[in-house]
Amino acid sequence: MSYPGPPPHSALWRLVRPLMRAAEELVFPPVCVACTKPLERLAERHEEVNWLCQTCLEEIEPQVPPYCSKCGEMYDGAFTNAFRCSNCEGQKLEFDFAVAACTARGPVRELIHRFKYGRRLHLRSSLAVLLRRVLDEERLRAEKLSEWLLVPVPLHPERESDREFNQSWELCVRLGQFTGIPAVQVLERILPTVKQANLNRRQRQENLRGAFRLRPPCWWQWHLPRPPDLHGRNILLVDDVLTTGSTTSECARVLKKGGGAEKVVVITVARG
Ligand SMILES: [Zn+2]
Ligand SMILES: [Zn+2]
Repeated sequence: MSYPGPPPHSALWRLVRPLMRAAEELVFPPVCVACTKPLERLAERHEEVNWLCQTCLEEIEPQVPPYCSKCGEMYDGAFTNAFRCSNCEGQKLEFDFAVAACTARGPVRELIHRFKYGRRLHLRSSLAVLLRRVLDEERLRAEKLSEWLLVPVPLHPERESDREFNQSWELCVRLGQFTGIPAVQVLERILPTVKQANLNRRQRQENLRGAFRLRPPCWWQWHLPRPPDLHGRNILLVDDVLTTGSTTSECARVLKKGGGAEKVVVITVARG
C-alpha cells in the first residue's frame, strides 16, 4: 500500500458514529439498493460496500486485464502487449491513463444512479470503497500515492445547485478519508454542459474547450486553505463513471497546461 491509510478515529467519533449509523438506518431502512432485499444491520459492515446484498456484490464485474492502456476499455481475448483501443482513436486524450474499479452494469450502475440522481448521499461511502480498489492497479501500486492529490471533476454551479452536491467531490472526500491522500478542489467549470449526443469525438472535445479553468483564489474564501501549487504534482482525477473520456481529458489538459501538473491519472468507480 503506497498511501498512509485512515487516521485513527477520535474518542468522540467512536461515541457519535453508532448513533449516526442508527439514525441513518431509521431514515433509510437497510435494503439492497439494487434488488431491495433486506440487509443485515449496517453497523457491523462499516467501510464495506454497505448497500448491496451478497448476491448483488458478487454480480459486480471488476475491471480486469486485458484493457486499453490509455482509457481502460476492457477487451475479451488474450492480449500480451499494452494496446490502445478504438475509443482512443480519433481523439487525443490528455490524461496519462484511466482506470476504473468495475464496469457500469447491474448493481454498480444502480448504486451510481441512486447516488447521483436520487440524491442519496449516504451511498458515497460504498462507492468510495469500490473506487479504492483502483489504487491496487499495477501501475498505481508502483507509485507513492501519499504524495499525490485527489482532484474532482467539477460541475457547473447551476448543475451543482440542482443536484445539491458534486458526486466527484463527495467521492474524493471519502477516498481521502480512507487513504490519507489529500483531496483538493482546484478546478472549476465555467461553461455549462451542452448536449453532446450528436457530436463526434473531435467535436465533443472542441465543444469542451474553455469549459474548465483553475479555480482562482477568492478573497471571500480567505478561511479556506489556499489551493496547492500544482507544478510537478501528480494528480488522481476522480469521477464516478468514465465513458468517452472527453471531459476528464479536458480537465487533465487544464491541470497540466495551466497548472503545470506532471501526471494526471483518471480514476473512476465504473467504466461506461
Ligand atoms: Zn441485492
Ligand atoms: Zn482506449
